[in-house]
Amino acid sequence: MRSLIPDYLAEALADVEADVSGEPAGYIPELAAADPDRLGAVFATLDGTIYGAGDIDTEFTIQSISKPFAYALALADRGFDAVLAKVGVEPSGEAFNEISLEDETGRPRNPMINAGAITTHSLVGSPDLDPARRVTRVVEGLSAFAGRPLSVDEAVCASEMEEAWRNLAIANMLRSHRILTEDPRAVVDGYVRQCSVLVTARDLGIMAATLANRGVNPLSGEQVVAEPVVRQVLSVMATCGMYDAAGDWATQVGIPAKSGVAGGLIGALPGQLGIATFSPRLDVHGNSVRGVSLFERFSSDAGMHVMAAPPSAPSVVRSHRAMGTGADAVRVIQLQGGIRFAGAERIVREVADQVFPETTVALDLTLVHSIDDVARRMILEVARRLTLDGHDVHLVDPDSILPDPDPGEGGRVTVTDALAGPISPGRTPARR
Ligand code: GLN
Repeated sequence: MRSLIPDYLAEALADVEADVSGEPAGYIPELAAADPDRLGAVFATLDGTIYGAGDIDTEFTIQSISKPFAYALALADRGFDAVLAKVGVEPSGEAFNEISLEDETGRPRNPMINAGAITTHSLVGSPDLDPARRVTRVVEGLSAFAGRPLSVDEAVCASEMEEAWRNLAIANMLRSHRILTEDPRAVVDGYVRQCSVLVTARDLGIMAATLANRGVNPLSGEQVVAEPVVRQVLSVMATCGMYDAAGDWATQVGIPAKSGVAGGLIGALPGQLGIATFSPRLDVHGNSVRGVSLFERFSSDAGMHVMAAPPSAPSVVRSHRAMGTGADAVRVIQLQGGIRFAGAERIVREVADQVFPETTVALDLTLVHSIDDVARRMILEVARRLTLDGHDVHLVDPDSILPDPDPGEGGRVTVTDALAGPISPGRTPARR
């Protein structure tokens, strides 16, 4: 069978192809000269499969799509406090190149607008890095997100620097507020080099998938940045990634995203997918016209809006019954699926305020595929309280889905591989 996904992508491209509205970025001469008809789209899965249609191997400059990744590097290199002291996380509702800073502090409102991104660039690497080595750190960091070595398009970089008056004005403002502490021109030069890194839609798909995959690159397996950094970056993309169109985007598409003026657009669907599109004609916000249409379509066709709740899963309590009679009687609560807070609450409710005549209570996890940390702690607390009520608690957990089954003070659990089966060797039940 031929996979349906590339066919779907090709069909989506065909549907937007006729839309030639918008213009390539005019303020960077090299970009104005780009072929405006290029069109491509990529879905990158979290296990490294790339589906694509159209121009997915054409190189273009990353531009503002570098901003969330540079922000991730700054957070990783300097820590949250140092970065937040200089760049906020509030949507500005203004254009990407607005010369605006917070009144009191002079802080740029967020790292997705140019003022914030120029500052963020200055925060990558250790404080003593010279401008050239900082650019190296940025390019290497972007490369780690892409899973291959990336390089700078010198022609686009020089072309943007020739006309960088507005970014220089922003950097000078930042310098006057002591948000930047070095030569503003050197910082803008580094920032523009960062924006001039060459990528393909395929690269952008992988970069987005790395964000969707808690910071682990699906191709290289490298943990590029830590999970809390990724959560911060995705949150800022969701609120500020599309500039003054961020509210429309959040409601209509609902995927954390970032656009660039060379025509790239990425979306990261946490836990599911990285998405990238490429089409150089831009709308008034500087976002790719056909890219926005494609994302609107992907979101509605594939139910990708992050605020849409997943279909309600079957109850985590699959069955609850008493087995056997007399002293051998066991109360068996069979659980299933993935358990997070709401599922764990359901388990608590199953046993709270009840009196069970059986001494042994078995929680059967055989059909459970995942338990997050809060659910793990809640299940162990249930086990502890049942012990204190005089029960003998068994966890049937053949795949060790619940790590470190220590219920704490006064609790005791017996871990078994099967209902009424032997205690597995080497997995001593925790006792206190
Ligand atoms: N290098 C571009 C600039 O600073 C990036 C802008 C963008 O992609 N939105 O103007």
